[in-house]
Amino acid sequence: MEGRLMLMKCAGCGALRLPSRRHCDVCLSDQTEWVQASGRGVVRSVGIMHQRYHPGFQTPYNVAFVELDEGVRLPTNITGIANEAIRVGMPVVVDWDRYEDVALPKFRPA
Ligand SMILES: [Zn+2]
Repeated sequence: MEGRLMLMKCAGCGALRLPSRRHCDVCLSDQTEWVQASGRGVVRSVGIMHQRYHPGFQTPYNVAFVELDEGVRLPTNITGIANEAIRVGMPVVVDWDRYEDVALPKFRPA
């Protein structure tokens, strides 16, 4: 795990595809390349979850949409701050949550 946030980019028109998918929504091309994202963005929405949907989840936890500097929105969690202090418009930076063989891109205040 290299700690790089990568985005799928259409090789036909340059549109970013998030979530990654075979065909471009803009030009329908199936040609792609991968580009490294800045890892920076802004919180665009946030919700605090109180229902425990999985035994591994500790409630309450937040679910946020972060708009990356590249313009796409990523569902994620905000770390390093109390849930009630998270604000829409808050600048954030990627903060990897690493497991054995997986790293999840979460975000902390910039
Ligand atoms: Zn395209």
